[in-house]
Amino acid sequence: MIGSMTALNHMIDSEMDKLRACVHCGLCLNVCPTYIERGDENDSPRGRLYLMRAVAEGRLPPTTSAFARHIDLCLGCRACETACPAGVRYGRLWEAVRADIAARQQPVHLIGRFQRFVLNRLFVSRRRLRWLFAPARVLRRSVLLDRLARMPILPLRLKKVFMLLLATRPPRIERFRPSVQSDDVREDHDADRTTTFPTRQAVALFAGCVGRELFDHTNRATIKVLQEHGRRVINLKEHVCCGALHVHAGEVETARELARKNIDIFELSRGETLITNIAGCGAMLKEYGELLADDPDYRRRAQSFARRVRDISEYLMDIGFRPGPRPVNVKATYDAPCHLFHAQRVTKAPVELVRRLPGVTFIPLAEAHVCCGSAGIYNLIHPQLAGEILHRKLNNVRRTGADVLLTGNAGCLMTLQSGVIEMGWDIQVMHLIELIALTYE
Ligand code: SF4
Ligand code: SF4
Repeated sequence: MIGSMTALNHMIDSEMDKLRACVHCGLCLNVCPTYIERGDENDSPRGRLYLMRAVAEGRLPPTTSAFARHIDLCLGCRACETACPAGVRYGRLWEAVRADIAARQQPVHLIGRFQRFVLNRLFVSRRRLRWLFAPARVLRRSVLLDRLARMPILPLRLKKVFMLLLATRPPRIERFRPSVQSDDVREDHDADRTTTFPTRQAVALFAGCVGRELFDHTNRATIKVLQEHGRRVINLKEHVCCGALHVHAGEVETARELARKNIDIFELSRGETLITNIAGCGAMLKEYGELLADDPDYRRRAQSFARRVRDISEYLMDIGFRPGPRPVNVKATYDAPCHLFHAQRVTKAPVELVRRLPGVTFIPLAEAHVCCGSAGIYNLIHPQLAGEILHRKLNNVRRTGADVLLTGNAGCLMTLQSGVIEMGWDIQVMHLIELIALTYE
């Protein structure tokens, strides 16, 4: 069998030391959401690594359906990497296996074929995406959506789609509007800001493909906060999808094409830094160096590009964050997106930002760094298991007593907010940057 799993063998060759370093200690087991829910060793990181090695060494046929199923059930959250004392780079191995499985299998079920069509035909073009999301934007404004999302007779996946769309509505922030303060406070703040940020450095905003279509409010808040820090924001209108969804689905060649386009566009913009407010995109953009490592024309450019990518939270901390002067009186908690915490290792910046906001009481969330079950389109492919993972997360949120649940990733936000709506709870899920932006109003 060796030789048939090309991408996996290639990866194991380059990562052999790390893979061999797996001492089967099991420290990754209790952070793995699929293992926590199913209790099956084959659905744990250690079990999946064992299966990968068995396939690469010819002890297990790669066509075994159980192998594909256990790999498919992985969320790709990479919590196991953070927990691993031996430095096993599970995420890279998993992506290589996904690519191999995608290359050898024609998806049999309708959802798989539709997913391939959407990723390779629609998510590669800004214009086609605009058309794809046009009905969603119209439906989002209609009360019909509220009815559709709650229709009991709809199939589970379709209902989930409507619920997720419902969750993209701008947050109801009227009740969190800051208390009014005297103009003197604002003037002091403005004078202080001009002294602290005397230059107008240009930064480019990677708005994200779904972000641009459905999270305009989050992007506007990001621009506002950056401007309050003296930055001139270049909106990269022509950028395409970062390719994260493609890599997770094993469509690596399409992801490489998208990466080349984004590098070209960013270089032309002359921005010093590329800012993103979507953790999944940020993790992917920071990995362009590895994605294009075999491309002689783009290798160096991709490495330089990746070094300039910053999540909005780490960027604000880097440049000396100044919250606005107006207090926002809320109790807030924060759920860490896996692709920020585990993939980018941005662990402290978001919490530090929230703690500095005037008026905000921060309440830590138990298991904040465990996946919420979103994971791209995992919650549509595996709605049952994703629902169980989300349920555990929401129970932890409920225990905090917070009125606001903050996060830093569009996918997590949609999943968490849809869960809150389904439960009928009075908790607002919103992007961290939107709460920060309120302090400048
Ligand atoms: S924590 Fe690391 S070394 Fe331990 S079983 Fe998991 S992958 Fe292997
Ligand atoms: S990536 Fe997440 S779901 Fe997959 S094995 Fe690691 S911890 Fe488990």
